[in-house]
Amino acid sequence: MDNQNNLMEKIVALCKRRGFIFPGSEIYGGLAGTWDYGPAGSLMKKNIKDIWWKELVQLRDDIVGLDAAVMMNPRAWEASGHVEAFTDPLVECKICHQRFRADKLEEIASHEETHKGQKVTWTEPQKFNLLVKAYLGIIEGKQSEIFLRGEITNGVHVNFRNVLDSTRVKIPFGIAQVGKAFRNEITPGNFTFRSREFEQMETQFYIKPDGKEGEKWFEYWKKNRMDWYLSLGMRQENLRFRDHEDNERAHYALAATDIEYNAPWGWQEFMGVHHRGDWDLKRHQEFSGQNLTVKDLETNEEYLPWDIETSAGVDRSFLFILVDSYREEEGRVYLKLSPKIAPYKAAVFPLLANKPELIEKARGIYEDLKKDFMVAWDDRGNIGKRYAAQDEIGTPYCITVDFDTLKDDSVTIRDRDNAKQIRVKIDEVRGYLLDRIK
Ligand code: ATP
Repeated sequence: MDNQNNLMEKIVALCKRRGFIFPGSEIYGGLAGTWDYGPAGSLMKKNIKDIWWKELVQLRDDIVGLDAAVMMNPRAWEASGHVEAFTDPLVECKICHQRFRADKLEEIASHEETHKGQKVTWTEPQKFNLLVKAYLGIIEGKQSEIFLRGEITNGVHVNFRNVLDSTRVKIPFGIAQVGKAFRNEITPGNFTFRSREFEQMETQFYIKPDGKEGEKWFEYWKKNRMDWYLSLGMRQENLRFRDHEDNERAHYALAATDIEYNAPWGWQEFMGVHHRGDWDLKRHQEFSGQNLTVKDLETNEEYLPWDIETSAGVDRSFLFILVDSYREEEGRVYLKLSPKIAPYKAAVFPLLANKPELIEKARGIYEDLKKDFMVAWDDRGNIGKRYAAQDEIGTPYCITVDFDTLKDDSVTIRDRDNAKQIRVKIDEVRGYLLDRIK
C-alpha cells in the first residue's frame, strides 16, 4: 500500500509541476473539492472528450448530440427524484464533529484510528442531499431557488420530444452529452476522484420496452465502453466490471454495472452502465403533462421507450488514464499516453538556443506542424532536460534540428516509449507523425 500511496503522491506532484491539474483557487487557500486544469491538463481533457464525441456521435448514425443548460426548472429535479432521494447517509464523529459518509467504511475506520485510545461514537446516519442550490432572479429576497445539475442526464430526457421532432432519429437511438455536474459531496477526496464540480460524458440510448431488447443493449453498451477504454491503451488487468448488488441499485434500475479501475487505493468506479427502464420519461411525462411516447410504425402502438445509460466521469477517466500511463524505467519518468490523448503530439527543439540558423529551421517545422495538431516548442536548457519535460507530459515524439540538418535537411525524431532516435527528412516528418498519432 505504501508504494501505492507513493504513486498517488508522485502523480499529484507531477500534475502540479507539469501543468496538468492545480488545486482550485489555490492562492486563496483553495476550495475543497474543486480543481483547475492547467495548460497540459486542459488539452488532455479536451482530447478525451473529443475522442469520446467522435466515436459516439460523429462515427455513428444512431446517436445525436445535445448541450443542455446547467440550470433547469426545479420541477425537473422533483420529477427525476433528486429532490427527495439524491442523498448520501451522513454521520458525525461525536468527538471532533467531523462528518463522513456512513457507507464508506474504510474512511470511517481510518478516522477512528486518528482518535487512538478513545472510544469513538457516531451520530445516527442522516440523509444528506447532494444537490447544490443557487438563487436566480434580480430582486433581493424574491429570488427563486434552483439547483445546479447533480448529473447531466436530466437535460437529455426533458429534450427527448424536441430531439424526436427535430431530427430523423428512430428507436433504437441515443442522445450524447458532455458537461459539468455539481454535488455537495460529504467527503471530497482522492485527488480529483471525488470532486464537488466535475464533468460527465453520457449517452442515453432509447429502445423498445422489451426484456430481450433491454438485455441485448445493456450487454452491448457494457462491451462497447470497456473496449473503448482498452482502445485508449489502458491495461486490461486494471479494468473490470462490477454488477451492482440488489440493495445498491436505484429502485427503478433494471440492471446496473460499473466499470472499475484498480486505483492506488483499491478498485473504484469510473463509469456506469445503467438499465433505467422507462423511469425518467415516465416521471417527466407525469410531472410536465407532456406526451413523451413514440408510435411503433408497424403496430401503431404508443409506448414509452426504455433507456440504457452509459455515464462516465471525464475527470475520473482523466485521472485513471494518467495513473495507468505512469512509467518509471531506467531512471526516467514518462507517461505512456495514447497519442490520441497526449496533450502535445510532438515537440520541436533547436539543438542550441543561440544559433539563429538552427532556430529558423526548427521554427519553420514547428509552424508547419502546428497547423495539423498540437506541437510544443522548447529551446530552454539542454536537450536532456527538454526530453525529460516532454516525457513527463507524455509527448510521443521529439524533433531536434541540429547542425546536420543544415547540411542534409533531415532531423532527429525521438520516440518517447523507447527513447530511440531516427533520422527523417524534413519533408517526410509530417507524414511520419500523422501515420503514428491517428
Ligand atoms: P460514487 O458511488 O463514486 O459516488 P455514483 O455512483 O454516485 O459515484 P453516478 O451518479 O453513477 O456516480 O455518476 C456517473 C459517473 O460520474 C461516475 O461513474 C463518476 O465517473 C462520475 N462522478 C460521480 N460523482 C463524481 C464526483 N463527485 N467527482 C468526480 N466524478 C464523479
